[in-house]
Amino acid sequence: MFHPITLIILVPLFAEFFLHTLADILNLRVLRDELPPAFKDVYDQERYQKSQEYLRVNTRFEWISSGTGLLCFLIFWFGKGFPFLDQWARSLHQGPILTGILFIGVLAIIKSLLSLPFKVYATFVIEERFGFNRATWRVFSLDMLKGALLGIALGVPLVAGILAFFQYAGAYAWLYCWIAVTLFMLGVTFVAPTWIMPIFNKFSPLEPGELRTAILSYARSIDFPLENIYVMDGSKRSGKSNAFFTGFGKHRRIVLFDTLIEQHTVSELVAILAHEMGHYKKRHILKTMISGVIQAGFLLFLLSFFISYQGLFDAFLMSQKSIYGGVVFFAILYAPVDLMIGLFVKAWSRMNEREADRFAIETTRDPRSFSTALKKLSVHNLSNLLPHPFYVFLHYSHPPILERIKVIETG
Ligand SMILES: [Zn+2]
Repeated sequence: MFHPITLIILVPLFAEFFLHTLADILNLRVLRDELPPAFKDVYDQERYQKSQEYLRVNTRFEWISSGTGLLCFLIFWFGKGFPFLDQWARSLHQGPILTGILFIGVLAIIKSLLSLPFKVYATFVIEERFGFNRATWRVFSLDMLKGALLGIALGVPLVAGILAFFQYAGAYAWLYCWIAVTLFMLGVTFVAPTWIMPIFNKFSPLEPGELRTAILSYARSIDFPLENIYVMDGSKRSGKSNAFFTGFGKHRRIVLFDTLIEQHTVSELVAILAHEMGHYKKRHILKTMISGVIQAGFLLFLLSFFISYQGLFDAFLMSQKSIYGGVVFFAILYAPVDLMIGLFVKAWSRMNEREADRFAIETTRDPRSFSTALKKLSVHNLSNLLPHPFYVFLHYSHPPILERIKVIETG
């Protein structure tokens, strides 16, 4: 018979899989052949059909990869993978912290090895087929290698810190952990634009010219102190385009993909950046960071109750308790809670996106350029124009494109 905790983990796990599959099916069923009227000027029928094919292919691929992931997890769990790994890590006699790092490290390695073939297929088969992929094998392998090294450099001290606090700091361990994790998050955000992102991409200052002048004069008009506009070589990996904001304080910068600049006029690019600056002006970036800190505190507080709960160890067939085991098993138990919080965070994010859209229209007074920019972006990236509302509810951090355009064009 199953342990009650086993069921408490299994039932939401299958429920989540079922809900996501249901949303996918609904999403595919609402696809229509005829082009929405708002897109008549930017889409042709052939490319529109291609965007639907892109969605179908990606949905099927998602089923195979998430189904395989779930199956492997269940095999590992009920095949006594956790106690086996624990015995091996203990046999090396390295003390509780290092043993924990080995245990968690091997789990992380297994997880990334399992996802690797799927990443290869997505990049070199699917993205290639739809004309997006520009990564060579060399770029792809270097990305993987750098990502792994970065994961070790950031992950090992973080995990070691958390394990050490819970091992030695007593009842307030979660609070010390929270402070440490918050400082860690702030630190990573602070150094990301100057230390971390340049590991993967080249950032060059936007050359003086019409575009730079237009962006700076817009920034001045909304009283936005902007010093750094950078162009990122996104074309190194993909033909898809984007723009974003990164860092804070002195390191704050706006980044444009080189692929974005190729495809848009100056006024369209200003409109896109007006939306990005809107996020900053409306303090969305700060609020998102605060919400992340609160979520981390909530998680660590709950962890302190469950970390040595016998039921969790029974459910994962472990004969010996440990701090690192408690951390891993609680993370698995917590996953559905995280998913629910994620739904609120996404709904809130969609609200912020609407606010940033409004900001862009009000300050540029150029709704036409903004709606053209969004249309061109979604055509270029083969976005789904008509997602099912339930799919949007589960996955979308932005409102669907047609909804945004309707708001922009009707004011
Ligand atoms: Zn946005």
